[in-house]
Amino acid sequence: MNFETWWLLALPLVFGLGWMAARLDLRQAISEQGALPRSYFKGLNFLLNEQPDKAIDAFIEVARLDPETTELHFALGALFRRRGETERAIRVHQNLATRPDLPDTEREHALYELGQDYLRAGLLDRAEDALRALMSGPYAASAKRVLLELYEVEKEWRKAIDAARELQSATQQDYSVQIAQFCCELAQDALQRKQADEAIGWLEQALRENPKNVRAPILLGDVAMASGDLGAALGHWLGIERQDASYLPLVADRVVKAYRDLGEQGKALEWLRGLLKTGLAPELLDTAYRTELELAGPAAAAALMREQLRRQPSLQALTRYFDARAALAAPAPATADVAEGNGAPAADAANATADATPADATAQEDAAIRDLLQLRTRNLARYTCRECGFRARLFYWQCPGCNRWESYAPRRTEALG
Ligand SMILES: [Zn+2]
Repeated sequence: MNFETWWLLALPLVFGLGWMAARLDLRQAISEQGALPRSYFKGLNFLLNEQPDKAIDAFIEVARLDPETTELHFALGALFRRRGETERAIRVHQNLATRPDLPDTEREHALYELGQDYLRAGLLDRAEDALRALMSGPYAASAKRVLLELYEVEKEWRKAIDAARELQSATQQDYSVQIAQFCCELAQDALQRKQADEAIGWLEQALRENPKNVRAPILLGDVAMASGDLGAALGHWLGIERQDASYLPLVADRVVKAYRDLGEQGKALEWLRGLLKTGLAPELLDTAYRTELELAGPAAAAALMREQLRRQPSLQALTRYFDARAALAAPAPATADVAEGNGAPAADAANATADATPADATAQEDAAIRDLLQLRTRNLARYTCRECGFRARLFYWQCPGCNRWESYAPRRTEALG
């Protein structure tokens, strides 16, 4: 009987204690879950309302409350770097990289991010150290890619060649275009130091790496020209036609100069006229016009531009056609100025004649049209990067916008803004 009474008393007590424990657990769980989502949602709300600064503050609060949220730390670090706040990104990633409780892969991830932060901040030595520590493991290939970027920034072309070769064998991706360009960079360095033989060595290596590389024959021609071997220079430049004829306009001025120095002006004219017929304008148009005007006179230049307008109409050809007409109308000594692209003499000639004869009136109209065209076509033709769309007046082997190599086609595009 005593035993039964004890049971009757103990059972409700045990249930009661169990119920209380469950309530306590639940309350704690609710308070834990409740604290995190509130800041998360606050942060998300700020992000959605395009208030990134307040969003970051909210997320920092979450990260402070719960240091275990490494994913959030990584996200914050990446966000800081993207916003250019490299110091804050470095602090977040440094904190992660030095935490002893993190597994190796997370610590390597932090080092990889840190390497990119340092690179962005211009702390190149530190970036190299961080990335060099990752040469094996899951972040090896990514770290090597950033390291290659770093060597390009540092203009450490030999190291860049080694890094590209390593990447080539590790990732099975083709880096021959880049390696050939690095060889060309080294050749240019050698040329600046007047080390012609060393330059030639690098350029030949560039062509072995990438036989389609056009920069190497351009530079080989420059080396030959500097040593006075005009025939060899012409051989290198004209040989580009066999690689990719669309790059010929890049060497048009050089070819014309070499022919002229050789006293073979006729060949220069013949070469340019032939190329215009193949549709490589508008890049060649300026060189062709100037050369024709200088060597064959304004009537021939006007005829060439008229022919070009029929074949491939463009604002640039139209402008040059009116330039040629102005050169024809202008007194003889003014021709040289017009050839330089300076329209002043023709305009003066037009303005000077208040009592206009029919011919003067035509000249005046021509000048007005030409001025208008020049205004409209100035800065019109641009090289455009295929990868990022960066437009530039000069031709670049490496895009200043996205740092990709050979992303510019050698053709300028005429696009009205
Ligand atoms: Zn680009």
